[in-house]
Amino acid sequence: METEPVYFLLVDDLKENLLSLEAVLRREGLVFLKARSGPEALEALLQHDVALAIVDVQMPEMDGFELAELMRGNERTGRVPIIFLTAGTADRQRRFRGYEAGAVDFLHKPIEPDILRSKAQVFYELYLQRRQIARQRDELKAYAAALEEADRRKDEFLAVLAHELRNPLTPIRYGLDMMRLAPGQQMPAELQTMMDRQLTHLVRLIDDLLDVSRVSRGKIDLRREPITLQAALQGAVEACRPLIEAHHHTLLLEIPETPVPLLADLTRIAQVISNLLNNAAKYTPEGGEIHLRARQEDGQAVINVSDNGVGIPPEMQSRVFDLFIQVEGGIKRSRGGLGIGLALARQLVEMHHGSLTVSSEGENKGSTFEIRLPLDPGQTRTTTESIPAPAVPSTLEILVVDDNISAAETTGQLLAMLGHHVTLSHDGRAAIDQARRLHPDAIILDIGMPGMSGYEVCRQLREDPRFAETILIAQTGWGEDRDREEARDAGFDFHLTKPVSVDDLSHALAGSLPGHSLAG
Ligand code: ADP
Repeated sequence: METEPVYFLLVDDLKENLLSLEAVLRREGLVFLKARSGPEALEALLQHDVALAIVDVQMPEMDGFELAELMRGNERTGRVPIIFLTAGTADRQRRFRGYEAGAVDFLHKPIEPDILRSKAQVFYELYLQRRQIARQRDELKAYAAALEEADRRKDEFLAVLAHELRNPLTPIRYGLDMMRLAPGQQMPAELQTMMDRQLTHLVRLIDDLLDVSRVSRGKIDLRREPITLQAALQGAVEACRPLIEAHHHTLLLEIPETPVPLLADLTRIAQVISNLLNNAAKYTPEGGEIHLRARQEDGQAVINVSDNGVGIPPEMQSRVFDLFIQVEGGIKRSRGGLGIGLALARQLVEMHHGSLTVSSEGENKGSTFEIRLPLDPGQTRTTTESIPAPAVPSTLEILVVDDNISAAETTGQLLAMLGHHVTLSHDGRAAIDQARRLHPDAIILDIGMPGMSGYEVCRQLREDPRFAETILIAQTGWGEDRDREEARDAGFDFHLTKPVSVDDLSHALAGSLPGHSLAG
């Protein structure tokens, strides 16, 4: 729909002529610029883009041809079509001069209204088409520029990704080399801690990457339930403590004692807060101070994470929430990360109808991030139960099924170290036979296996009443919501994404792993 008017320029030294031209041509969407002389006409042409100029030839001072020549000489007005109106019978030479000056047509006075109207109509239509083409050209240019920018950012991102994935692998590689060079020797505790931290970091990068892609496809389902803010804070602090301690920061907590009720996805809110705490630890020089404060205010839970670190320059404060944006990009970046944490955090908070903002007084003045979340007014009874430590299961008979032999063997060795009795299988069909023979207490099943998938194995086992009570755990690289659903439908008790920590595995074997149970 055209909303901008189209301009026609009418030039005649006689006012009545201008009025009668206007009367003939008047139509909706058309605006007339009227000029009584050449200079006035030039003035009007500077103000607006004109679709057509209708110019009287005989005018005192500057005649129509002179005006046309001046128009031709100017980039902005050079292409404006001109219809000359002339009273005399223009001899051939005068007419030629007119065409040279840029006329597209001559009309003789007295004007035939129908002829003038239909000629003007042609220029009106042409102008609209030209304007539309110009608009489309601008849009295409903008798309092309946006694509180019996205492409550049993608290349940069892939480079950063490769770098970031490689970094945490170094200490893990060294750890393994040391074990090989000095077999049987105890690995230094610091190295173990470092390997553990780097592996956690690696898993977190991959989780964030997947989450970002899920959020942008609208594929994240929140599991909102009555929780307390304190439970989320506790989870976040626990997850971040190793990094905070590694940087020798002090963590100061100001958390209200009265439970702050939220209707929220506990894991996601803890993830957001731990993201902010992690950043505070990363972007603060060694030995810094990190404050985690929470309060209740105007029907909202307010959480502040502040640090006394490198700060964020004002012009970057809104941009840090964009995907792949890092204040120190390129080669200068030194603190690790992919530039997706804050984008993800903000989206998760907004999915909870809350907000995430930042303030910083600038470079080296520290930063404060603030999360606001609506309180859950309906919550009278809060569910603050802390997660009970699992009753350490006594020796269990466990069948581990994975077509990846190393994965099966390491899982088996770990479980054996925990005191369980383990049998391995690398094939779904064989696993069913083994299960019937051994009647294990728990079966840990990979999902993607050639021949028979873990889902199918699980389904067949569940059809047999002898396996009604057996703990069935899916241990898989597929972690989308629909994978969890499929696991539940197949009859699994738990769905764990690889790599699975020994704690999670123990909790699952004890039948009590919060957040991963498929029951209900
Ligand atoms: P990443 O930390 O992986 O680069 P984020 O999305 O978490 O990605 O953060 C984006 C950018 O915001 C960071 O690269 C950093 O420049 C800046 N930033 C985030 N948190 C802080 C903080 N607490 N202090 C200073 N800068 C920060």
